[in-house]
Order: sequence, then C-alpha cells, then structure tokens
Amino acid sequence: MGTPDQESRQASAYRYLPEMTVATALADNPAEHSPNQQLMPLTARVNALDHLEIGGCDVVALVQQFGSPLYVLDEVTLRTACRHYREAFRQYYPGESLVIYASKAWSCLAVCAIAHSEGLGMDVVSAGELITALQAGVNPKQIYLHGNNKSVQELQLAIESGCRIIVDNWYELQTLVNLGGEQPIPILLRLTPGIECHTHEYIRTGHLDSKFGFDPNQLDAVFQFVSQQPTLRCIGLHAHIGSQIFELQPHQDLGVVMAQWFVKAAHYGLPVQELSVGGGLGICYTEADDPPSIQAWVQVVATSVKTAFQAQGLTLPKLLSEPGRSLIGSACVTAYTVGSQKVVPDIRTYISVDGGMSDNPRPITYQSLYRALIANRLSAPHQTPVTIAGKHCESGDVLIKDALLPEKIQSGDILVVLATGAYNYSMASNYNRIPRPAAVVVKEGEANLILQRETWQDLLRQDRLPERLRSV
Ligand SMILES: *Cc1c(COP(=O)(O)O)cnc(C)c1O
Repeated sequence: MGTPDQESRQASAYRYLPEMTVATALADNPAEHSPNQQLMPLTARVNALDHLEIGGCDVVALVQQFGSPLYVLDEVTLRTACRHYREAFRQYYPGESLVIYASKAWSCLAVCAIAHSEGLGMDVVSAGELITALQAGVNPKQIYLHGNNKSVQELQLAIESGCRIIVDNWYELQTLVNLGGEQPIPILLRLTPGIECHTHEYIRTGHLDSKFGFDPNQLDAVFQFVSQQPTLRCIGLHAHIGSQIFELQPHQDLGVVMAQWFVKAAHYGLPVQELSVGGGLGICYTEADDPPSIQAWVQVVATSVKTAFQAQGLTLPKLLSEPGRSLIGSACVTAYTVGSQKVVPDIRTYISVDGGMSDNPRPITYQSLYRALIANRLSAPHQTPVTIAGKHCESGDVLIKDALLPEKIQSGDILVVLATGAYNYSMASNYNRIPRPAAVVVKEGEANLILQRETWQDLLRQDRLPERLRSV
C-alpha cells in the first residue's frame, strides 16, 4: 500500500538502516544541531546497561517508574529549537521579531511554560489552548488566536484577556464588529497566498482551495471594510502555507506576496506593522527525510521579507513566525511495552504494543512514517523487518508497517517510537476507551511528570446513566 513515493522512501530506508548504528544516529554536541534534522532527541545516549538514555534518564527505568506507554519529552531539545529560531532571527533580521509556538502541536502547561521561558509567544486555536497558555503565564499580548470558525465565547475570551485575534473570514469580521466596545480590538487578517507546496493534502493550507483565510481577490473589499470600522484595529497580516514542508522556495515567495499586501493595506490607511509568515518547517521522521535547518529556514524568511519590503520602500514590519512541529517534534519519544506477536508465514510478523492510534493517530490519518528502537537492547542490530501494531480494534492501527528491529523481540521489551512530540498527545483520543498515557519531561537525570496518566475513572467522568436505564 501507499504511494509509489512512499514505497521508494521505505525501500531506501531498508538499505540505510542495517548500517545505522545507534552511535551514528546520536548527536554529539547537542546545542550545535538543528533539532528538526535529528531522528532522536539531542541528549539521546546508550548507557552502560545498553539502554536508551534521554536527558540523563534511562528510558526503561522511566517506564518502570511511570508506566507504559509513556511520552518522554527532552527539555534540552525543545529549548535548543527555541533558541535556534530566536538567534537566527536576531542574526538575519534587522527589525523586531517574535517567534510564536503553534501550541496545537502539543498544548499543555509544561510545554507552554518552557516555550514562554525561552521568550516565545503562543499561537492558540481554541479557548482550551488559550486558557492553557494564559495559565502557563504567557503574556496575553503575545498570544494569537487562530481558527476558521471561532465561537463568540472564544472571541470574547480573547478580547477580555487582551490577546491578538487573527481574523479568518467575513463572518468573523462581522461578529467582531458586533462585539466591539470602547477599545479597538487588535486584529491581524489571514490571507490565502495562493502558494503551492508539496506536502500531504490534509496539511496544505496556502493554495487557493483552502478553508482558511480570505481569498486574495477579496483584498480590496476586506481592507476597505476594516478601514471603516472604528472598533477594529488591523495591526498586521498573516499567512500560513502548510506543514512538514522541506522546500524553502514557498517561504521565499511568501515575502514578496506579503510585501505587496502591505502596500495595499497602507493605501487603505490600515496601521499594519506586524507580518506573520506562519510555520511549516518539516522535521526528520525517518532517515529519508531531509528538511533544511531552522537557521536556513529563518535566513530565507528574514531575507525575503527584508528584501521585498526594502524594494517597496516600506519600513520593516515586526516579523512573526509560528513554528509548531519543528520546535517540539524531535524532542519527544513514545515508549511502549511489547506484548503479543503474530507470524503470518512468508508475509509479515506483527509485534503488538500497548498503545497505538489513540496516542499517535498520525500513521492512520496521514500515512506518516516513523522509526523505532528496542530501548533495552540498543546495540542489537536492528535489521529484521516487522510490523508494529497498536492494540486498537482497527486493522489500520499500525504504527510502523516496515520497522527494522532486533531479530528476537520478546514480550516485555521496551519499544520506542521516535519523533512523537508534535501532533501526538494533542491529537490523542480515548478510542476503545483507552486512557491517555502519561508524559514526563527529562533533564539532567531528573524526570518530572507533566501529564498524568488517565485512569478508568477519568474515562467514566462524563458518563451519566439515566434512572430509567438502570438495571435492577
Ligand atoms: C498548524 C499551524 C502552524 C504550525 O505549523 P507547523 O507545521 O507545526 O510548524 C502555524 N500557524 C498556523 C496558522 C497553523 O495552522
């Protein structure tokens, strides 16, 4: 199954992985590596027990202590990615800039607090993400609310807390006009740039046929309307062209397009000063992925905006970027315990783990590829092709179709899936009434719980049994 493209990527991984020793996959000097180009967290090591160690913690011991499955988040990797973004903007962009963590990648108090402590602002797409960012201590002026169908309550909450609102459509503009009071509401307008990029259809947003943003042929009408609303103050323009992008060209083109929009907005008298180029930089899920570094991406974005604005004779805007995946994707692994196995002669061997599509819905949703290791026997050659199945009642619940693992896998082995920091916990469900796993953050040998494991009681928390349905 899969597209020919995916098949050839898998084939090349086959050739590559037998030679991959853990040592070559591990980073030697963490701070120098662009986390999005690494398969593993930057602090990953093999310890004396031949176990995988992350953030100075033995992953096998973590599972014994905190249970299985377990998300293990490496603080150093996340902080390094934040710093790479901020330092690159300082280096390549002469104007003001703000890096904004797209918290939909993984929204929880600890992750928001780490990003905030690194000087990042926060993108949120719902009231739930908004209150998480506020509770984590993020300054409301650095919180940007996105979404193509925000509710009135969500808009009200954003206005009351003093957040920025990225307006997506006419309906929302009208709603905001109706909600407007004495103080003008600071907004940015999201526009669809009409830029194509090569990524999965579900995560492409910049081309014209997208549910997000104002169509470019509406530009004049939108600017005209907004310029006549005393209760709205349009402080900037926004575009986001997609996710898991490996090309730099789309973002190079975006700067030019957005500078033209700024000229037009200024013509209508809008006080635009912020320009957001969205996120989208890809990460390495398998050794076949080859994304540009964070620094290279920022250089292209910053140079493109700077050059285009200078060419138009405009003052440089405050440059906003909204990375999600490339900040947190490589910082986390998911540890599972191996259970049953099934050998289908001459076809494949299924190795089942104690989680699956409920804690990582990406393979079944996007046919995403992942790599795995046996954390308690790291030096064993990982050369035998097997299929890693989840425990859900769904034939498609396969985490990795052609994983390469040591020859003899035993029940109780700790299997680690790499690069699960982005869009895993945040997309997790209780399908089959399976409680969500716990998550820990690790640093210098210390592990702290950041998300408690759900319990069976949690699963029943919303259930109500009407009197007439109760059995005697
Ligand atoms: C999803 C999203 C992002 C982040 O995308 P990544 O690919 O995770 O960097 C940024 N901005 C907007 C508007 C988004 O919808």
